[in-house]
Amino acid sequence: MTITIAPELIRQVKAGDITRFAPSPSGFLHLGHCYSAMFTHHIAKASGHDMLLRIDDIDSTRCKPHFVDAIFADLDFLDIPYARPVQYQSQHLNRSRDAIRYLHEQDMIYPCYLSRREINHLLSAPHDATNTDQLINPHELEERENSDMEPAWRLRMDHIRQHLPMLTAHDLIHGQIDIDLDHIADEVIARRDIGSSYLLSTVLDDHYSGVTLVTRGDDLLHVVPVQRILQELLGLKPPRYAHHKLILNADGERFAKRNNDLGIHHMRQQGMSKNDILDIMTKCRDNL
Ligand code: GLU
Repeated sequence: MTITIAPELIRQVKAGDITRFAPSPSGFLHLGHCYSAMFTHHIAKASGHDMLLRIDDIDSTRCKPHFVDAIFADLDFLDIPYARPVQYQSQHLNRSRDAIRYLHEQDMIYPCYLSRREINHLLSAPHDATNTDQLINPHELEERENSDMEPAWRLRMDHIRQHLPMLTAHDLIHGQIDIDLDHIADEVIARRDIGSSYLLSTVLDDHYSGVTLVTRGDDLLHVVPVQRILQELLGLKPPRYAHHKLILNADGERFAKRNNDLGIHHMRQQGMSKNDILDIMTKCRDNL
């Protein structure tokens, strides 16, 4: 029992392409992850390499060691191979610090001393500020700048628009993706508590581990524009992408940790075999 991948997709995979599966250990893997891991594994097989496994664990409040252990156990149980050593995103936060320093020198990002709640509140009122720090009183801003408070860092889109050409991304399933810089907000690329974000760490770690083909679910298509902007500003060669459709649960919803969908870990504990699990997954795939 396995999944089938369209031959026209496999034909576009290049010998030597490097792929990765990058789950966040903030919950147990569900059938959606299982599909994504198998999809990546099949693409990796066509490229002649095992996929890389990266544990996206920078959010230390949500990520837990027992979820990391379960990821290894689930992949082993499902016979999905991956290259060693396993990578841990939290071990490379220095890459983000260097990138932030560089982007700040280039004036492509700015520090933001507002909390998320303040931003939402202030942005709900009419304003003509070009960046969010202009929304608070300058004395208050100065006090925060001079305190120990770490800022978050946001893209300075008004500068970026002047600096960058029209961007595109190449997706093996969706074709060329044109990126309209006019519709991108001053996204936070480093949280104050982490010094990075999923958006930034992923771009850097994919680059440093030589990933040339990013495979993941359609739920992450919306992050491509900001990730392409970061690659361009940092002078990194962009990978190609393959965003696959999401499989759906019996209620027609995508699998999510919060939906109480049964995790692979629990299915194993209930005594299901690998084939039982893959059978259920295949039926969900038929819902597409
Ligand atoms: N860690 C991300 C997640 O679990 C996926 C990262 C990626 O594939 O870019 O949703």
